[in-house]
Amino acid sequence: MILHNSPTLLEVRNLHASINGTPILKGLDLTVKRGEVHAIMGHNGSGKSTLAKVLAGHTAYTVTAGTVRFEDRDLLELPPEQRARAGVFLGFQYPIEIPGVANSQFLRLAYNTVQAGRGKDELDPLEFDDLVREKMQLLEMNPDFLQRSVNEGFSGGEKKRNEILQMALLEPRLAILDETDSGLDIDALRVISQGINQLAHPDNALVLVTHYQRLLNYIVPDYVHVMADGRIVKTGGKDLALELEERGYDWITAEARAGGALA
Ligand code: ADP
Ligand code: MG
Repeated sequence: MILHNSPTLLEVRNLHASINGTPILKGLDLTVKRGEVHAIMGHNGSGKSTLAKVLAGHTAYTVTAGTVRFEDRDLLELPPEQRARAGVFLGFQYPIEIPGVANSQFLRLAYNTVQAGRGKDELDPLEFDDLVREKMQLLEMNPDFLQRSVNEGFSGGEKKRNEILQMALLEPRLAILDETDSGLDIDALRVISQGINQLAHPDNALVLVTHYQRLLNYIVPDYVHVMADGRIVKTGGKDLALELEERGYDWITAEARAGGALA
């Protein structure tokens, strides 16, 4: 087992970020320790995907204030590919299609890039094929998906499975999954959750952005956060997700307003 000086993996302080000059994140704080699972919930438009994309280094967003530490680094200084190499993985809410690029090629390139960044051996196509098929079995994915163009013509659920396949290959330190559960039927949800749970490790952490408590029956979070207007306005344990399912979000925004945390 690797021993680290600090149990903290990610520390976000007073994060502000804009897109096209419009402020979206307005002073967000979040601390994630190794081995933890965090769920981030909240109304549509509260800034959940923005947070995920800013952490991954999406170039459309401008960070206007605040700090993000990842392990011993200033994450905001790193370009997106170095964040990936450092072990940050983002599973997109809307995975992109890449026509003309075979999924197997794409996955191997991503895998080898991260391996090289970790000073580990790259795999040739045959070696990689064995590895990727083993991971696909875990996710009950048909190997035919290797030959097809990345996500092209994949159903919503197949795209999400492909995102988790990438995650399984890259073995990230911090995985941020943005609505991986949306568009999944109940069987796919179970399979994907099992896959995600098998990747859990005391040294890694998981941030799940979700609308539904359903996913959290399978992947039990240590903390549930509620976002509103670009901030985390409430944090609780796993029971908070059940309460949200029953009562909605409005009581939380009302509470936050009364407490002065929201305008
Ligand atoms: P969530 O994932 O919580 O539903 P998002 O992070 O996707 O929310 O969006 C947060 C807010 O940012 C929304 O109000 C959305 O309309 C706004 N937004 C997203 N992209 C742009 C853009 N390109 N220009 C202006 N506003 C945007
Ligand atoms: Mg979103």
